Amino acid sequence: MSYVFPPPAVVSVPVVGRAERFPVHRIYCVGRNYEEHAKEMGFTGREPPFFFMKPADAIVVAEAGQAATIPYPPLTRNLHHEIELVVAIGRGGRAIKAADAAGHIYGYAVGLDMTRRDLQNDMKKQGRPWCIGKAYDHSAPIGPITPAAEAGDIGNAAIWVQVNGSDRQRSNVSKLIWNIAETIEHLSAAWELQPGDLIYTGTPEGVAAVVSSDTMTGGVDGLTGITVHVA
Ligand code: MN
Repeated sequence: MSYVFPPPAVVSVPVVGRAERFPVHRIYCVGRNYEEHAKEMGFTGREPPFFFMKPADAIVVAEAGQAATIPYPPLTRNLHHEIELVVAIGRGGRAIKAADAAGHIYGYAVGLDMTRRDLQNDMKKQGRPWCIGKAYDHSAPIGPITPAAEAGDIGNAAIWVQVNGSDRQRSNVSKLIWNIAETIEHLSAAWELQPGDLIYTGTPEGVAAVVSSDTMTGGVDGLTGITVHVA
């Protein structure tokens, strides 16, 4: 096979305790999946889950023990952090039942669904796609993936992010409206999941702006945390 120009490198995420990396296929994101965050965004109640996507090359890897750096993105004056548990799919499938979801999970990581909130809100008002607010370059920082068997009780893990050392978001994965298994059931009803897919499962309340020179430190109990600096 030859190409008219060199194809892009495979996007990959390190795996805790292994030399082999996790190659990324797609990035799915769940919207408004914690009740208190849904409320702060002006919504209430348990909506059916809904999804949006980011391109795989929006990934910015925070290698273990190292801070990652993201540029302050163009066009926005309201760049928000959304700390999220990320599910890494190791075995694909379609129409996966929640009861069978665990067998499709390779592991878990800590991620940030960085959001140009002003642009997202403009698009919402106009009934237009969120892509420019959500799926921009460098919008998906992520830390190393911990294999599921080593991640502990992830369904009851604390999740938090601090900015410059002060708490911004602090909750628990148990507060997901649609839990990990239910999310996989809904997602795989709409798309055939593939090995390498990542699912950003949604963010708890407390989303807020960061500015240039801020440092975000985020974690989920049982996983390797991430530090991301805004250039
Ligand atoms: Mn999000």
